[in-house]
Amino acid sequence: MKLIIMGPPGSGKGTVSERLEKEFNLLHVSPGELLREEVAKGTTIGKEIKRFIESGELVPDKFVAEMVKLEVKGKDNYILDGFPRSLGQAKSIEELKIDKVIYLDVSEDEVIKRLAGRRVCERGTHGYHITFLKPKKEGICDVDGSKLVQRKDDNPRVIKQRFKVFHEQTEAARKFYEKKKILVKVDASKEPEKVWELVNKVIKEMKK
Ligand code: AMP
Repeated sequence: MKLIIMGPPGSGKGTVSERLEKEFNLLHVSPGELLREEVAKGTTIGKEIKRFIESGELVPDKFVAEMVKLEVKGKDNYILDGFPRSLGQAKSIEELKIDKVIYLDVSEDEVIKRLAGRRVCERGTHGYHITFLKPKKEGICDVDGSKLVQRKDDNPRVIKQRFKVFHEQTEAARKFYEKKKILVKVDASKEPEKVWELVNKVIKEMKK
């Protein structure tokens, strides 16, 4: 099963992808996470891309598309979380023959409220929310025990820019998959468990 999880910043792509990974044993490929790792490690690539991430811009395709393709090479069961984010990126992975695009549909007002309460573990792998998705122990990641922090790009100025990029570039990729009739919209305005039920239903339908 080859899936894409798409949606505006803060729509819950990471949360849904983590659950899909666990329940259906799919490889979770998140370019955002891979890119942040490069920055944290201070690699040559990391130094070049830091400014794009921190300002809410898309990292240039030469760093992203090949990285994603390398991750999924020869594999049949995966979720692309946050890729593609532009029409060009969508066209560049036509050969992967994606089965379904799950679009997390939620208003901008709602996600702006959510992003302020979002927390991630130190590696940026596991996501939480101070109200809607609390860890078992306050401020600590359930999975790896690290301290929970706020992402650098979760501040109002950068969030605004990420939305601009979403409208100007990512919506074109959404329309591309709509036309191909492989996109399913899921109401992502509800709490995480309800959203999961809807996503789960889509997967079960696919397996029939
Ligand atoms: P995310 O963790 O998916 O919210 O992504 C965080 C940041 O990583 C984005 O704001 C971009 O700067 C960068 N990024 C993630 N995915 C992509 C992509 N498909 N293309 C370009 N840049 C990306």
